[in-house]
Amino acid sequence: MQLSERITQLTGDGSDGWDVFYRSRQMVADGEPVIELTIGEHDIRTDPSILEAMHKAAIGGHTGYAMVPGIKSLREAVATRIQERTGVPTSYKNILISAGGQAGLYASHTAVCNPGDRALYLDPYYTTYPSTISGVAAIPVPVQTHTEDAFQPRVEDLDAAAAGATSLLINSPNNPTGTVYSRQTLEGIADVCKRHDLWLISDEVYDTQVWEGEHISPRALPGMAERTLVVSSMSKSHAMTGSRVGWICAPEHVIERLIDLATNTTYGVAGFIQDATEFALGQGVDLEEKVAEPFRRRRALAKDILAGQNTVGLIPAQGAMYLMLDIRATGLTGEEFANRLLDTQMIAVMPGESFGKAAAGHIRVAMTIDDNHFAAALKTLCTFAQAIAENR
Ligand code: PLP
Repeated sequence: MQLSERITQLTGDGSDGWDVFYRSRQMVADGEPVIELTIGEHDIRTDPSILEAMHKAAIGGHTGYAMVPGIKSLREAVATRIQERTGVPTSYKNILISAGGQAGLYASHTAVCNPGDRALYLDPYYTTYPSTISGVAAIPVPVQTHTEDAFQPRVEDLDAAAAGATSLLINSPNNPTGTVYSRQTLEGIADVCKRHDLWLISDEVYDTQVWEGEHISPRALPGMAERTLVVSSMSKSHAMTGSRVGWICAPEHVIERLIDLATNTTYGVAGFIQDATEFALGQGVDLEEKVAEPFRRRRALAKDILAGQNTVGLIPAQGAMYLMLDIRATGLTGEEFANRLLDTQMIAVMPGESFGKAAAGHIRVAMTIDDNHFAAALKTLCTFAQAIAENR
C-alpha cells in the first residue's frame, strides 16, 4: 500500500547536520557526560503557580471538550496582551487558541496557501519551516540572509523572490540566529508584502526574549493588520513547552476559517491547560522576565568570554535563547566542528547547516544549562576552535 506523497515527502532526507544531535542523545542515553547545548528547552520547569492553576482547573472538572476556538476569556486575555503591546485594536475574534506555535504555523499556511503556491521563508530557518510549507502542498522557497548583515533580511532579495509568491514566513527574535529584526528591516518586509500582495506569517514565539533593540510586531505597521497572521505560544515565554498551547492572531475572517480547520484537526486545546494559560498571562511581565532572565545573564557571560578571543565570531545575539557562532576561521564546516567538539570535548551543539545553507560554517549554541557550566563549556569551545585555527 502506498502512502501519500505529501506525508512521505514531508521532511525530505532531513539528515543535514542532525546526525550530531542524534549521536549526542544516544551518548547521553548511554550514560556519557555530554554537555547538551542543542535544543531550545529551558533548564527550569513550568512555574509551580501555573501548575497549581492547571491542577485546580482539572480537579474542578475542566477536563471535557473545551470550546474549539479557545475559551472566550483566554482569547480576550491574549487579545488584550497583544493590543497593549502593539497598539493594534484586537478583539477575541482575532484570536484562535492553538496547540502551540507549531500547530499555528501549519494552520496559518493551510489558511493562506493553495497547493502549488510559492511560500517564502528566510534561511537560516527554524527546522520545521520547509516541511510545514510542503505539508500543506505549497512550495517552500528559501530566501538567503547573510552573516555580514547579522542575518537581517535584504529587501532586494525578498523583492526578487516575491513575484508570484503567496506568503512570507518570518521569525523575530530569530531562531537560530538570535537576530531581532530592526524597524527598517520590518518596514522593508511590509513594503514587499504590500507590493506583491503577500500574506505575512510572523512567528513571534520569542517575543519576550529581547536583549538588545525592541520587538516590533509587523502587524502593527501601516496596512499590515489585514494581511498578517501572528503565531505565538506559551512555550518559550512561560517555559510551557509541554503544555502545547499558543495562538494565532489574524483578521476575523481568517480566524473564522481557522476555527473550521481546528474543528477538523485538533478540536481545540485542553480546558485545564487554557485555564492555566489565562492564569499565567494574568501574572503579567514579571513572570515572563523571570523565565527570560537566565538567558539574558548567559548571553552577557557569552559576550565577555567571546570578546577575549578572535577565532569564534558572535552574531550579535539580540534575542532568543541561542548564540549563533561563526567558526569559519577554523576551516571546518559547522557539521565537522560540531562532530569533533562532541567527540573530543563532549559538548553537543547544533551545526549551522541543520538550519539551512546560509548558516554553513556556523554553529548554534543553546543557552540552556546553568551559568557556571555554560561559561565553562563556552571557554572550552573557544580554546578548541583556537587550537584548530592555529594548526590549519
Ligand atoms: N517557532 C520557532 C522559531 C521555534 O523555535 C519553535 C520551537 O522551538 C516553534 C516555533 C514551536 O514552538 P511551540 O510549538 O512549542 O510553540
